[in-house]
Amino acid sequence: MFEYAPAPESVRPQIKEHYGLFIGGEFVDAEHVFKSINPSTEEVLFTVAEASEADVARAVAAARKAQETVWGPMSGTERGKYLFRIARLLQEKAREFAVAESMDNGKPIKETRDFDVPTAAQHFFYHAGWADKLAYAGLGADPKPLGVVGQVIPWNFPLLMLAWKIAPALACGNTVVLKPAETTPLTALMFAELCQEADLPPGVVNILTGAGTTGSALVDSAVDKVAFTGSTAVGRAIAKAVAGSKKKVTLELGGKAANIVFDDAPIDQAVEGIVNGIFFNQGHVCCAGSRLLVQESVAEEVLARLKERVSLLRVGDPLDKNTDVGAINSAEQLERITALTEAGRGEGAEVWQPACDLPENGFWFRPTVFTGVQQSMRIAQEEIFGPVLSVLTFRTPDEAIAKANNTPYGLSAGVWTEKGSKILWAAERLRAGVVWANTFNQFDAASPFGGLKESGYGREGGRQGLEAYLDV
Ligand code: NAD
Repeated sequence: MFEYAPAPESVRPQIKEHYGLFIGGEFVDAEHVFKSINPSTEEVLFTVAEASEADVARAVAAARKAQETVWGPMSGTERGKYLFRIARLLQEKAREFAVAESMDNGKPIKETRDFDVPTAAQHFFYHAGWADKLAYAGLGADPKPLGVVGQVIPWNFPLLMLAWKIAPALACGNTVVLKPAETTPLTALMFAELCQEADLPPGVVNILTGAGTTGSALVDSAVDKVAFTGSTAVGRAIAKAVAGSKKKVTLELGGKAANIVFDDAPIDQAVEGIVNGIFFNQGHVCCAGSRLLVQESVAEEVLARLKERVSLLRVGDPLDKNTDVGAINSAEQLERITALTEAGRGEGAEVWQPACDLPENGFWFRPTVFTGVQQSMRIAQEEIFGPVLSVLTFRTPDEAIAKANNTPYGLSAGVWTEKGSKILWAAERLRAGVVWANTFNQFDAASPFGGLKESGYGREGGRQGLEAYLDV
Protein backbone atom coordinates (compact mmCIF):
# COMPACT_ATOMS: atom_id res chain seq x y z
CA MET A 1 0.00 0.00 0.00
CA PHE A 2 1.30 3.47 -0.88
CA GLU A 3 1.48 6.02 1.91
CA TYR A 4 0.49 9.63 1.30
CA ALA A 5 3.15 12.25 2.08
CA PRO A 6 1.82 15.09 4.25
CA ALA A 7 0.27 17.93 2.22
CA PRO A 8 -0.20 20.74 4.74
CA GLU A 9 -2.21 23.81 3.80
CA SER A 10 0.15 26.78 3.57
CA VAL A 11 -2.23 29.73 3.96
CA ARG A 12 -2.51 31.11 7.48
CA PRO A 13 -5.48 33.36 8.18
CA GLN A 14 -5.06 36.62 10.08
CA ILE A 15 -6.52 35.64 13.42
CA LYS A 16 -6.63 38.45 15.99
CA GLU A 17 -5.63 37.80 19.60
CA HIS A 18 -9.00 39.01 20.80
CA TYR A 19 -12.42 39.69 19.27
CA GLY A 20 -15.15 41.90 20.74
CA LEU A 21 -18.88 41.82 20.08
CA PHE A 22 -20.05 43.16 16.72
CA ILE A 23 -22.82 45.65 17.48
CA GLY A 24 -24.02 48.51 15.27
CA GLY A 25 -21.20 47.96 12.78
CA GLU A 26 -18.37 48.13 15.35
CA PHE A 27 -16.47 45.74 17.55
CA VAL A 28 -17.08 46.57 21.21
CA ASP A 29 -15.75 44.96 24.37
CA ALA A 30 -17.64 43.12 27.05
CA GLU A 31 -17.02 42.52 30.74
CA HIS A 32 -16.21 38.82 30.40
CA VAL A 33 -14.11 36.95 27.88
CA PHE A 34 -13.57 33.28 27.05
CA LYS A 35 -11.05 31.26 25.04
CA SER A 36 -11.49 29.52 21.73
CA ILE A 37 -9.20 26.56 21.14
CA ASN A 38 -8.11 24.51 18.17
CA PRO A 39 -9.66 21.08 18.87
CA SER A 40 -6.96 19.27 16.90
CA THR A 41 -4.14 20.63 19.10
CA GLU A 42 -5.90 22.10 22.16
CA GLU A 43 -3.94 25.35 21.59
CA VAL A 44 -5.70 28.62 22.39
CA LEU A 45 -6.44 30.43 19.12
CA PHE A 46 -7.85 33.71 20.48
CA THR A 47 -10.07 35.13 23.21
CA VAL A 48 -13.56 36.36 22.60
CA ALA A 49 -16.10 38.56 24.43
CA GLU A 50 -19.09 37.01 26.19
CA ALA A 51 -22.29 38.97 25.59
CA SER A 52 -24.43 39.79 28.63
CA GLU A 53 -28.16 40.49 28.69
CA ALA A 54 -27.40 44.23 28.40
CA ASP A 55 -25.22 43.57 25.33
CA VAL A 56 -28.07 41.58 23.79
CA ALA A 57 -30.44 44.50 24.38
CA ARG A 58 -27.96 46.91 22.77
CA ALA A 59 -27.53 44.68 19.72
CA VAL A 60 -31.28 44.26 19.29
CA ALA A 61 -31.74 48.05 19.57
CA ALA A 62 -29.05 48.59 16.90
CA ALA A 63 -30.73 46.03 14.66
CA ARG A 64 -34.14 47.65 15.24
CA LYS A 65 -32.84 51.09 14.29
CA ALA A 66 -31.15 49.74 11.16
CA GLN A 67 -34.27 47.82 10.15
CA GLU A 68 -36.63 50.76 10.57
CA THR A 69 -34.46 53.51 9.14
CA VAL A 70 -32.27 51.90 6.48
CA TRP A 71 -32.65 48.23 5.63
CA GLY A 72 -36.44 47.88 5.71
CA PRO A 73 -37.15 50.97 3.56
CA MET A 74 -34.37 50.10 1.09
CA SER A 75 -35.48 48.68 -2.26
CA GLY A 76 -34.98 44.97 -2.87
CA THR A 77 -32.65 45.78 -5.75
CA GLU A 78 -30.33 47.73 -3.45
CA ARG A 79 -30.42 45.07 -0.75
CA GLY A 80 -29.58 42.49 -3.40
CA LYS A 81 -26.45 44.44 -4.33
CA TYR A 82 -25.16 44.20 -0.77
CA LEU A 83 -25.82 40.46 -0.71
CA PHE A 84 -24.02 39.98 -4.02
CA ARG A 85 -21.09 41.96 -2.61
CA ILE A 86 -20.97 39.75 0.49
CA ALA A 87 -21.11 36.62 -1.69
CA ARG A 88 -18.25 37.84 -3.86
CA LEU A 89 -16.14 38.82 -0.85
CA LEU A 90 -16.69 35.35 0.61
CA GLN A 91 -15.42 33.86 -2.63
CA GLU A 92 -12.41 36.16 -2.67
CA LYS A 93 -11.51 35.21 0.88
CA ALA A 94 -12.54 31.56 0.50
CA ARG A 95 -9.12 30.12 1.26
CA GLU A 96 -8.67 32.17 4.42
CA PHE A 97 -12.16 31.31 5.66
CA ALA A 98 -11.61 27.61 4.90
CA VAL A 99 -8.38 27.43 6.89
CA ALA A 100 -9.83 29.43 9.79
CA GLU A 101 -12.86 27.15 9.92
CA SER A 102 -10.69 24.03 9.98
CA MET A 103 -8.57 25.47 12.79
CA ASP A 104 -11.51 26.54 14.94
CA ASN A 105 -13.75 23.52 14.27
CA GLY A 106 -11.36 20.63 13.61
CA LYS A 107 -12.93 19.59 10.29
CA PRO A 108 -10.68 18.67 7.33
CA ILE A 109 -9.55 21.42 5.00
CA LYS A 110 -10.86 19.55 1.97
CA GLU A 111 -14.37 19.84 3.42
CA THR A 112 -14.18 23.52 4.39
CA ARG A 113 -12.51 24.34 1.06
CA ASP A 114 -14.81 22.30 -1.17
CA PHE A 115 -18.06 22.39 0.75
CA ASP A 116 -18.56 24.78 3.69
CA VAL A 117 -17.23 28.00 2.20
CA PRO A 118 -18.46 27.60 -1.42
CA THR A 119 -21.92 26.56 -0.20
CA ALA A 120 -22.03 29.55 2.17
CA ALA A 121 -21.20 31.88 -0.75
CA GLN A 122 -23.85 30.11 -2.86
CA HIS A 123 -26.48 30.91 -0.21
CA PHE A 124 -25.69 34.62 -0.47
CA PHE A 125 -25.72 34.55 -4.28
CA TYR A 126 -29.00 32.66 -4.32
CA HIS A 127 -30.76 34.96 -1.86
CA ALA A 128 -29.31 38.09 -3.47
CA GLY A 129 -31.31 37.04 -6.51
CA TRP A 130 -34.53 36.85 -4.48
CA ALA A 131 -34.20 40.28 -2.83
CA ASP A 132 -35.95 42.14 -5.67
CA LYS A 133 -38.32 39.30 -6.62
CA LEU A 134 -40.12 38.66 -3.34
CA ALA A 135 -43.42 39.70 -4.90
CA TYR A 136 -43.09 36.69 -7.22
CA ALA A 137 -42.35 34.11 -4.51
CA GLY A 138 -46.00 33.12 -4.23
CA LEU A 139 -46.22 34.69 -0.79
CA GLY A 140 -48.42 37.68 -1.60
CA ALA A 141 -48.07 40.71 -3.83
CA ASP A 142 -46.03 42.79 -1.39
CA PRO A 143 -44.63 40.59 1.40
CA LYS A 144 -43.15 42.52 4.33
CA PRO A 145 -40.16 41.67 6.54
CA LEU A 146 -40.73 40.54 10.11
CA GLY A 147 -38.31 43.06 11.64
CA VAL A 148 -35.41 41.95 13.86
CA VAL A 149 -34.44 38.29 13.89
CA GLY A 150 -32.50 36.55 16.67
CA GLN A 151 -30.51 33.62 15.33
CA VAL A 152 -28.66 30.93 17.27
CA ILE A 153 -26.47 28.38 15.49
CA PRO A 154 -24.42 25.26 16.35
CA TRP A 155 -20.75 24.42 15.88
CA ASN A 156 -20.83 21.73 13.20
CA PHE A 157 -21.00 24.03 10.13
CA PRO A 158 -20.28 27.45 11.66
CA LEU A 159 -20.01 29.60 8.53
CA LEU A 160 -22.53 27.62 6.52
CA MET A 161 -25.19 27.76 9.26
CA LEU A 162 -24.55 31.50 9.50
CA ALA A 163 -25.16 31.82 5.76
CA TRP A 164 -28.33 29.70 5.95
CA LYS A 165 -29.61 32.09 8.61
CA ILE A 166 -28.36 35.53 7.53
CA ALA A 167 -28.78 35.39 3.73
CA PRO A 168 -32.58 34.81 3.61
CA ALA A 169 -33.22 37.12 6.58
CA LEU A 170 -31.42 40.05 4.92
CA ALA A 171 -32.86 39.35 1.47
CA CYS A 172 -36.34 39.68 2.97
CA GLY A 173 -35.54 43.05 4.60
CA ASN A 174 -34.95 41.91 8.18
CA THR A 175 -31.93 42.76 10.30
CA VAL A 176 -30.24 40.15 12.48
CA VAL A 177 -28.54 39.47 15.77
CA LEU A 178 -26.71 36.16 15.45
CA LYS A 179 -25.04 34.08 18.13
CA PRO A 180 -22.49 31.52 16.93
CA ALA A 181 -21.70 28.45 19.05
CA GLU A 182 -19.25 29.02 21.88
CA THR A 183 -16.65 26.59 20.48
CA THR A 184 -16.64 28.00 16.92
CA PRO A 185 -17.05 31.78 16.83
CA LEU A 186 -14.12 32.55 14.48
CA THR A 187 -15.70 32.59 11.02
CA ALA A 188 -18.74 34.54 12.31
CA LEU A 189 -16.34 37.23 13.58
CA MET A 190 -14.45 37.20 10.30
CA PHE A 191 -17.82 37.54 8.60
CA ALA A 192 -18.48 40.62 10.75
CA GLU A 193 -15.23 42.12 9.41
CA LEU A 194 -16.37 41.21 5.92
CA CYS A 195 -19.65 43.11 6.51
CA GLN A 196 -17.60 46.17 7.40
CA GLU A 197 -15.59 45.76 4.20
CA ALA A 198 -18.84 45.41 2.22
CA ASP A 199 -20.03 48.71 3.73
CA LEU A 200 -23.15 47.01 5.00
CA PRO A 201 -25.12 49.68 6.91
CA PRO A 202 -24.32 49.50 10.66
CA GLY A 203 -26.74 47.38 12.68
CA VAL A 204 -27.98 45.22 9.80
CA VAL A 205 -25.83 42.33 11.02
CA ASN A 206 -24.84 42.02 14.67
CA ILE A 207 -22.77 39.13 16.01
CA LEU A 208 -22.85 38.29 19.70
CA THR A 209 -20.51 35.63 21.04
CA GLY A 210 -21.28 33.67 24.18
CA ALA A 211 -22.71 30.37 25.38
CA GLY A 212 -26.21 29.14 26.26
CA THR A 213 -27.03 32.04 28.60
CA THR A 214 -26.34 34.55 25.81
CA GLY A 215 -28.49 32.46 23.44
CA SER A 216 -31.29 32.31 25.94
CA ALA A 217 -31.09 36.10 26.54
CA LEU A 218 -31.37 36.61 22.78
CA VAL A 219 -34.44 34.35 22.61
CA ASP A 220 -36.04 36.35 25.46
CA SER A 221 -35.13 39.76 23.97
CA ALA A 222 -37.32 42.09 21.91
CA VAL A 223 -36.79 40.25 18.60
CA ASP A 224 -39.66 39.50 16.22
CA LYS A 225 -38.48 36.06 15.27
CA VAL A 226 -36.17 33.36 16.59
CA ALA A 227 -34.36 31.04 14.19
CA PHE A 228 -32.53 28.21 15.90
CA THR A 229 -30.38 25.33 14.74
CA GLY A 230 -29.10 22.95 17.39
CA SER A 231 -30.10 20.12 19.66
CA THR A 232 -33.68 19.01 20.20
CA ALA A 233 -33.35 19.62 23.96
CA VAL A 234 -32.47 23.30 23.51
CA GLY A 235 -35.04 23.61 20.69
CA ARG A 236 -37.71 22.42 23.07
CA ALA A 237 -36.61 24.98 25.70
CA ILE A 238 -36.78 27.74 23.08
CA ALA A 239 -40.27 26.69 21.95
CA LYS A 240 -41.40 26.93 25.57
CA ALA A 241 -39.70 30.29 26.10
CA VAL A 242 -41.46 31.93 23.14
CA ALA A 243 -44.83 30.24 23.61
CA GLY A 244 -47.51 32.87 24.20
CA SER A 245 -45.42 35.67 22.66
CA LYS A 246 -45.88 37.05 19.17
CA LYS A 247 -42.43 35.83 18.13
CA LYS A 248 -42.24 33.52 15.15
CA VAL A 249 -39.96 30.50 15.47
CA THR A 250 -38.17 28.06 13.21
CA LEU A 251 -36.32 25.11 14.69
CA GLU A 252 -33.77 22.96 12.88
CA LEU A 253 -32.93 20.19 15.32
CA GLY A 254 -31.34 16.76 15.57
CA GLY A 255 -31.64 13.63 13.45
CA LYS A 256 -31.01 9.89 13.30
CA ALA A 257 -31.24 9.22 9.59
CA ALA A 258 -31.65 5.80 8.03
CA ASN A 259 -29.55 5.01 4.98
CA ILE A 260 -31.41 2.09 3.36
CA VAL A 261 -29.54 -0.26 1.03
CA PHE A 262 -31.77 -2.65 -0.95
CA ASP A 263 -30.38 -5.86 -2.44
CA ASP A 264 -30.47 -4.46 -5.98
CA ALA A 265 -28.36 -1.40 -5.11
CA PRO A 266 -25.06 -0.69 -6.89
CA ILE A 267 -22.92 -1.85 -3.96
CA ASP A 268 -19.74 0.15 -4.62
CA GLN A 269 -21.68 3.38 -4.95
CA ALA A 270 -23.75 2.57 -1.89
CA VAL A 271 -20.59 1.97 0.15
CA GLU A 272 -19.27 5.40 -0.88
CA GLY A 273 -22.63 6.87 0.11
CA ILE A 274 -22.60 5.13 3.48
CA VAL A 275 -19.08 6.42 4.19
CA ASN A 276 -20.00 9.95 3.11
CA GLY A 277 -23.25 9.74 5.07
CA ILE A 278 -21.65 9.04 8.43
CA PHE A 279 -17.96 10.02 8.28
CA PHE A 280 -18.32 13.37 6.48
CA ASN A 281 -17.54 16.11 9.02
CA GLN A 282 -16.71 13.44 11.68
CA GLY A 283 -20.41 12.58 11.74
CA HIS A 284 -21.16 16.00 13.26
CA VAL A 285 -24.04 16.35 10.81
CA CYS A 286 -27.70 16.68 11.79
CA CYS A 287 -28.77 14.69 8.74
CA ALA A 288 -25.93 12.12 9.01
CA GLY A 289 -26.83 8.62 7.81
CA SER A 290 -26.08 7.24 11.25
CA ARG A 291 -28.23 4.11 10.86
CA LEU A 292 -27.41 1.80 8.00
CA LEU A 293 -30.37 -0.45 7.14
CA VAL A 294 -29.11 -3.12 4.78
CA GLN A 295 -31.14 -5.93 3.20
CA GLU A 296 -30.13 -9.24 4.75
CA SER A 297 -29.21 -10.95 1.47
CA VAL A 298 -26.44 -8.41 0.72
CA ALA A 299 -25.50 -7.47 4.29
CA GLU A 300 -22.37 -9.60 4.44
CA GLU A 301 -21.01 -8.25 1.18
CA VAL A 302 -21.84 -4.63 2.00
CA LEU A 303 -20.23 -4.89 5.43
CA ALA A 304 -17.06 -6.48 4.10
CA ARG A 305 -16.64 -3.75 1.47
CA LEU A 306 -17.56 -1.05 3.97
CA LYS A 307 -14.88 -2.15 6.43
CA GLU A 308 -12.33 -2.29 3.63
CA ARG A 309 -13.23 1.25 2.61
CA VAL A 310 -13.30 2.65 6.15
CA SER A 311 -9.83 1.17 6.77
CA LEU A 312 -8.56 3.53 4.04
CA LEU A 313 -9.90 6.71 5.66
CA ARG A 314 -7.13 8.99 6.85
CA VAL A 315 -7.76 10.41 10.30
CA GLY A 316 -5.60 13.29 11.51
CA ASP A 317 -4.41 16.86 10.98
CA PRO A 318 -7.38 18.88 9.64
CA LEU A 319 -5.01 21.14 7.72
CA ASP A 320 -3.54 18.25 5.74
CA LYS A 321 -5.22 18.11 2.33
CA ASN A 322 -5.24 14.29 2.44
CA THR A 323 -7.20 14.07 5.68
CA ASP A 324 -10.66 12.51 5.49
CA VAL A 325 -11.68 12.60 9.14
CA GLY A 326 -10.59 15.47 11.38
CA ALA A 327 -10.84 16.22 15.10
CA ILE A 328 -13.94 16.02 17.28
CA ASN A 329 -15.04 19.58 18.00
CA SER A 330 -14.70 19.60 21.78
CA ALA A 331 -13.79 17.53 24.82
CA GLU A 332 -17.46 17.61 25.80
CA GLN A 333 -18.60 16.18 22.45
CA LEU A 334 -15.88 13.52 22.61
CA GLU A 335 -17.19 12.50 26.03
CA ARG A 336 -20.74 12.22 24.64
CA ILE A 337 -19.61 10.06 21.70
CA THR A 338 -17.50 7.86 24.00
CA ALA A 339 -20.39 7.41 26.45
CA LEU A 340 -22.87 6.39 23.75
CA THR A 341 -20.33 4.03 22.18
CA GLU A 342 -19.82 2.40 25.58
CA ALA A 343 -23.60 2.11 25.92
CA GLY A 344 -23.69 0.29 22.56
CA ARG A 345 -21.05 -2.18 23.74
CA GLY A 346 -22.86 -2.61 27.04
CA GLU A 347 -26.13 -3.39 25.26
CA GLY A 348 -24.44 -6.16 23.30
CA ALA A 349 -23.74 -4.65 19.88
CA GLU A 350 -20.49 -5.65 18.21
CA VAL A 351 -18.02 -2.83 17.65
CA TRP A 352 -15.46 -2.56 14.84
CA GLN A 353 -12.84 0.16 14.35
CA PRO A 354 -10.00 0.32 11.80
CA ALA A 355 -6.45 0.31 13.07
CA CYS A 356 -5.26 3.90 12.79
CA ASP A 357 -2.91 6.14 14.76
CA LEU A 358 -4.49 9.13 16.41
CA PRO A 359 -2.57 12.34 17.19
CA GLU A 360 -1.45 12.74 20.81
CA ASN A 361 -3.08 16.08 21.53
CA GLY A 362 -6.56 17.19 20.60
CA PHE A 363 -9.89 15.34 20.55
CA TRP A 364 -10.10 12.27 18.34
CA PHE A 365 -12.38 9.32 17.75
CA ARG A 366 -11.80 6.41 15.38
CA PRO A 367 -14.41 5.75 12.70
CA THR A 368 -16.65 3.15 14.33
CA VAL A 369 -19.11 0.59 12.95
CA PHE A 370 -21.57 -1.25 15.20
CA THR A 371 -23.17 -4.46 13.97
CA GLY A 372 -25.79 -6.63 15.65
CA VAL A 373 -27.71 -3.49 16.56
CA GLN A 374 -31.26 -3.86 17.85
CA GLN A 375 -33.98 -1.24 17.44
CA SER A 376 -34.26 -0.70 21.17
CA MET A 377 -30.58 0.09 21.74
CA ARG A 378 -29.56 3.66 22.52
CA ILE A 379 -27.18 3.65 19.54
CA ALA A 380 -30.20 2.97 17.28
CA GLN A 381 -32.38 5.66 18.82
CA GLU A 382 -30.22 8.55 20.05
CA GLU A 383 -28.24 11.01 18.01
CA ILE A 384 -24.53 10.30 18.60
CA PHE A 385 -23.28 13.22 16.48
CA GLY A 386 -19.94 11.53 15.86
CA PRO A 387 -18.25 9.06 13.46
CA VAL A 388 -20.28 6.08 14.67
CA LEU A 389 -22.46 3.96 12.39
CA SER A 390 -25.13 1.58 13.68
CA VAL A 391 -25.91 -1.25 11.26
CA LEU A 392 -29.29 -3.00 11.24
CA THR A 393 -30.63 -5.48 8.71
CA PHE A 394 -34.06 -6.02 7.17
CA ARG A 395 -35.74 -8.64 4.99
CA THR A 396 -38.60 -6.85 3.22
CA PRO A 397 -39.11 -3.26 2.02
CA ASP A 398 -41.96 -2.84 4.52
CA GLU A 399 -39.68 -3.83 7.36
CA ALA A 400 -37.07 -1.32 6.13
CA ILE A 401 -39.58 1.53 6.23
CA ALA A 402 -40.92 0.50 9.63
CA LYS A 403 -37.41 0.42 11.08
CA ALA A 404 -36.38 3.66 9.36
CA ASN A 405 -39.35 5.52 10.81
CA ASN A 406 -38.88 4.11 14.28
CA THR A 407 -37.08 7.06 15.90
CA PRO A 408 -38.31 10.31 17.42
CA TYR A 409 -36.55 12.19 14.60
CA GLY A 410 -37.46 12.86 10.98
CA LEU A 411 -34.80 14.94 9.27
CA SER A 412 -33.39 12.90 6.41
CA ALA A 413 -33.09 9.44 4.85
CA GLY A 414 -31.24 7.71 2.01
CA VAL A 415 -32.43 5.01 -0.38
CA TRP A 416 -30.11 2.88 -2.51
CA THR A 417 -31.69 0.78 -5.29
CA GLU A 418 -31.52 0.59 -9.05
CA LYS A 419 -35.33 0.76 -9.34
CA GLY A 420 -36.91 4.18 -9.69
CA SER A 421 -40.28 2.79 -8.62
CA LYS A 422 -38.79 1.56 -5.34
CA ILE A 423 -37.27 4.98 -4.70
CA LEU A 424 -40.65 6.66 -5.12
CA TRP A 425 -42.39 3.99 -3.07
CA ALA A 426 -39.92 4.46 -0.20
CA ALA A 427 -39.85 8.27 -0.40
CA GLU A 428 -43.62 8.37 -0.01
CA ARG A 429 -43.44 6.33 3.18
CA LEU A 430 -40.33 7.71 4.89
CA ARG A 431 -41.12 10.25 7.59
CA ALA A 432 -38.22 12.57 6.80
CA GLY A 433 -37.88 16.14 5.54
CA VAL A 434 -35.29 15.12 2.94
CA VAL A 435 -34.93 11.80 1.12
CA TRP A 436 -31.83 11.24 -1.00
CA ALA A 437 -31.84 8.56 -3.68
CA ASN A 438 -28.57 6.85 -4.62
CA THR A 439 -26.67 9.71 -3.04
CA PHE A 440 -26.39 11.32 0.38
CA ASN A 441 -25.63 14.70 1.99
CA GLN A 442 -26.45 16.79 -1.08
CA PHE A 443 -27.35 20.42 -0.45
CA ASP A 444 -28.36 23.32 -2.62
CA ALA A 445 -29.46 26.84 -1.70
CA ALA A 446 -32.47 26.42 -3.99
CA SER A 447 -33.66 23.30 -2.18
CA PRO A 448 -35.62 23.59 1.08
CA PHE A 449 -34.25 21.70 4.09
CA GLY A 450 -35.91 20.91 7.41
CA GLY A 451 -37.40 18.24 9.61
CA LEU A 452 -40.48 16.42 10.82
CA LYS A 453 -41.28 15.18 14.33
CA GLU A 454 -38.53 16.03 16.86
CA SER A 455 -36.24 17.29 14.09
CA GLY A 456 -38.05 20.62 14.19
CA TYR A 457 -40.26 22.80 12.04
CA GLY A 458 -39.86 25.38 9.30
CA ARG A 459 -37.77 25.12 6.16
CA GLU A 460 -34.48 26.78 5.23
CA GLY A 461 -33.43 27.40 1.65
CA GLY A 462 -35.35 27.66 -1.59
CA ARG A 463 -38.54 29.62 -2.14
CA GLN A 464 -40.10 27.85 0.86
CA GLY A 465 -37.36 29.16 3.17
CA LEU A 466 -38.31 32.78 2.42
CA GLU A 467 -41.65 32.28 4.14
CA ALA A 468 -39.92 31.99 7.51
CA TYR A 469 -38.62 35.57 7.15
CA LEU A 470 -41.70 37.29 5.74
CA ASP A 471 -44.93 38.42 7.32
CA VAL A 472 -47.29 36.27 5.27
P1 NAD B 1 -26.88 22.95 21.20
O1 NAD B 1 -28.35 22.94 21.16
O2 NAD B 1 -26.20 22.55 22.45
O3 NAD B 1 -26.35 24.41 20.88
C1 NAD B 1 -26.73 25.11 19.73
C2 NAD B 1 -26.63 26.60 20.00
O4 NAD B 1 -27.59 26.94 20.99
C3 NAD B 1 -25.30 27.06 20.53
O5 NAD B 1 -25.00 28.32 19.96
C4 NAD B 1 -25.55 27.21 22.02
O6 NAD B 1 -24.73 28.14 22.64
C5 NAD B 1 -26.99 27.68 22.03
N1 NAD B 1 -27.74 27.42 23.26
C6 NAD B 1 -27.50 26.51 24.22
N2 NAD B 1 -28.44 26.57 25.18
C7 NAD B 1 -29.31 27.55 24.82
C8 NAD B 1 -30.52 28.08 25.36
N3 NAD B 1 -31.02 27.60 26.49
N4 NAD B 1 -31.16 29.05 24.70
C9 NAD B 1 -30.69 29.52 23.52
N5 NAD B 1 -29.56 29.07 22.96
C10 NAD B 1 -28.87 28.09 23.59
O7 NAD B 1 -26.42 22.09 19.98
P2 NAD B 1 -24.93 21.80 19.49
O8 NAD B 1 -24.37 20.72 20.35
O9 NAD B 1 -24.16 23.06 19.34
O10 NAD B 1 -25.21 21.27 18.01
C11 NAD B 1 -25.49 19.98 17.75
C12 NAD B 1 -26.96 19.79 17.48
O11 NAD B 1 -27.41 20.63 16.42
C13 NAD B 1 -27.27 18.39 17.03
O12 NAD B 1 -28.39 17.90 17.71
C14 NAD B 1 -27.59 18.55 15.54
O13 NAD B 1 -28.39 17.57 15.01
C15 NAD B 1 -28.21 19.90 15.50
N6 NAD B 1 -28.14 20.47 14.14
C16 NAD B 1 -29.30 20.54 13.39
C17 NAD B 1 -29.26 21.03 12.09
C18 NAD B 1 -30.50 21.10 11.25
O14 NAD B 1 -30.50 21.81 10.25
N7 NAD B 1 -31.57 20.42 11.60
C19 NAD B 1 -28.05 21.49 11.57
C20 NAD B 1 -26.91 21.40 12.34
C21 NAD B 1 -26.96 20.89 13.63
